[in-house]
Amino acid sequence: MNIDGKTKIYGIIGHPVEHTLSPVLHNAVFEKRGVNAVYVPFPVAPDDLPLAIEGFKALTIGGWNITLPHKEQAIHFVDSMPKSIDKGIGAINTLVLVNGKTLGFNTDGLGFLNAIQQDLQFNPKGKTVVILGAGGSARALAFTLLENDVESLYIYNRTHERAQGLEDYLKKFFPEKNIQAFATIEELEKTSLDLLVNCTSCGMKDSDPYPINPDVLEQVSHFYDLIYAPLETKLLKEAKRRKLVTANGIGMLIHQAVVSHRLWFPDAKKEEVFGIMKNAYERWSKV
Ligand code: NDP
Repeated sequence: MNIDGKTKIYGIIGHPVEHTLSPVLHNAVFEKRGVNAVYVPFPVAPDDLPLAIEGFKALTIGGWNITLPHKEQAIHFVDSMPKSIDKGIGAINTLVLVNGKTLGFNTDGLGFLNAIQQDLQFNPKGKTVVILGAGGSARALAFTLLENDVESLYIYNRTHERAQGLEDYLKKFFPEKNIQAFATIEELEKTSLDLLVNCTSCGMKDSDPYPINPDVLEQVSHFYDLIYAPLETKLLKEAKRRKLVTANGIGMLIHQAVVSHRLWFPDAKKEEVFGIMKNAYERWSKV
């Protein structure tokens, strides 16, 4: 890497941020595509978020990602959010600096959509989908599925009040859609389900239980697990055993980074950026 007077800086802010994979992905693309830029992590404490955003503007940082715990707070400090879906999601993970103004975007939903299309050959239009979980990722995915013409969206969460809250919130934006939160997963029995998505963090630890009774998988044809570490959760193993079409969250992880990268470099080809990032991820995961 040659740093000179023209090198542009990109980065990610989070707290903590040490675990992030984003520098591996974006720097690989800069290197392969011969872009004079570097992508670095910035640990930013919650109270320092507005200062950091103003500082980045002053330093003309080209663009940056935002991770936990800032994704929701950051919407209050950006100059605009050009996509109405991002306002509904209520969280952003990518900023672009244009003429001194910050534009905020959420790339999780599109990353998920691209991943299920590529890894599961799944198009949500006209389908029945169940989301497990009611946190940040569940909300982003629910918006994306509803915007992409899913027929019925069901939500199940350990804490039912949160699932109900998400149903109520979504119905304000999509009053004509069939959106239902279920208090028990058994209520879904005998319903044929096209896709089940695990948007919970349950399964990251060996000691975690199943987030649902795995027998529900009998009713499902496709299963997507947002978790990518471990590569296979207990529920994903069970879905494979039952011969569902399955994938883990690596596709989404890379695709959302591809969408971010192309917000900064619109001329970069999606397939090329994806290929470089996938190779970089595979090299990194073997180390
Ligand atoms: P949140 O913290 O916002 O939500 C966590 C959700 O998990 C809640 O619905 C919570 O339920 C549920 N949950 C936690 N523990 C359990 C348990 N033991 N049993 C049942 N449910 C449980 O997290 P996010 O939505 O941001 O992320 C969820 C997962 O998705 C994480 O593992 C994250 O790493 C992954 N992710 C992957 C991405 C990718 O690119 N592949 C992108 C974004 C996230 P409750 O309300 O009852 O607490």
